[in-house]
Amino acid sequence: MKIHEYQAKKILKEYQVPIQGGLVLEKKEDAERILKQVASEYQTSEFVVKAQIHAGGRGKGGGVKFCSNSEKAKASINDILGMNLVTHQTGPAGQLVQKVMVTEAIDIEKEFYVAITLDREKSKNAIIVSKEGGVDIEEVAATHPEAIKKCWIDPGIGLKAFQLRYLSEALGLEGDLAKQAMKLFYNLYQCYLNTDASIVEINPLVLTKDNKLIALDAKFNFDDNALYRQQEIKDMRDTLEEDPAEVEAGKDGLNYIKLEGTVGCMVNGAGLAMATMDIIKQKGESPANFLDVGGAASIETVKNGFKIILSDKHVKAVLINIFGGIVRCDRVANGIVEAVNELELQVPIVVRLQGTNAKQAREILNKSGLTIESAETLGEAADKVVMAARV
Ligand code: ADP
Ligand code: MG
Repeated sequence: MKIHEYQAKKILKEYQVPIQGGLVLEKKEDAERILKQVASEYQTSEFVVKAQIHAGGRGKGGGVKFCSNSEKAKASINDILGMNLVTHQTGPAGQLVQKVMVTEAIDIEKEFYVAITLDREKSKNAIIVSKEGGVDIEEVAATHPEAIKKCWIDPGIGLKAFQLRYLSEALGLEGDLAKQAMKLFYNLYQCYLNTDASIVEINPLVLTKDNKLIALDAKFNFDDNALYRQQEIKDMRDTLEEDPAEVEAGKDGLNYIKLEGTVGCMVNGAGLAMATMDIIKQKGESPANFLDVGGAASIETVKNGFKIILSDKHVKAVLINIFGGIVRCDRVANGIVEAVNELELQVPIVVRLQGTNAKQAREILNKSGLTIESAETLGEAADKVVMAARV
């Protein structure tokens, strides 16, 4: 799960990580009131207006604007609120901006990069820093990766003082600033662990002209499987930022991820779903989605699965690939027939059912009078669905 910058900063503040705050608004008519409030709270006449969306790259995409007075800030709020912001992380469709943060403009001396994430190859959390933070960090990583320094934390030993020193030295900090940095890294790591984050990223962490380290931007990803014990974070979920079909699927306990292709897939089990997507790709078409209906596919889940797959107008054909282990194939076949009848489906459907009662299932489908193609092997199913999608 992702959250907005303003929410991320609220969490960091609870962990004594110094942040640059600000106020958030959703309605243009609140602009003047918010600007006055920011002006008096931060004693400033220069503002920065920042789009709040669940994607980075806002600065380069035109979603972060420096404004030298409150008139210009008001104009920027009007421009940014309601705009469709396209960044390298939103994809070409962009994201509608529904919230804006207004804050003071800061005199920046230097921009650093700090992040913590799990390094799966080493099975350890890694703290990653760079002296060259800011909006071009991806370019730094691509052209001179040696400017990015890492340290790995042994879960049995924990984060040690020598590592904190290494990280602050990597940023070229000394004396009091090194102390500030070490405290910040320590607190950030506690925050990362306690919130079940999978990524926390501060880019930029800035050194101000008056020698303070402050998080100017903040991003979190959280482990969805741990949300049950993170009520405060769960409450921060903003479903307006998520794909509506994915939100709908989540309500039915389905695991759905929309993709770019034309072949809709309904599969039980994540491994089989991955294999199904691979074979469609191998046969020359692309999957329109990943959909795992779970181990116990029922008539209801099959129906809801169809609805979600077909809400994507790019779908030209659907492949149902279900292995009857816990669930019996004949029950799934009945579910498919019922769903196809009820939803009056128009797109071609190819079904591969294997496992318990597969033979009966095929009979049910054949006798249904519906134009459902059935297949025995995965290869055959993929051939048929790819052909159907191309007609
Ligand atoms: P994003 O990472 O989505 O582009 P950031 O919050 O990192 O958004 O802002 C992009 C850049 O804008 C920062 O690297 C910084 O240079 C500048 N910036 C952001 N907030 C402020 C601020 N309050 N004062 C001055 N500059 C800012
Ligand atoms: Mg940033």
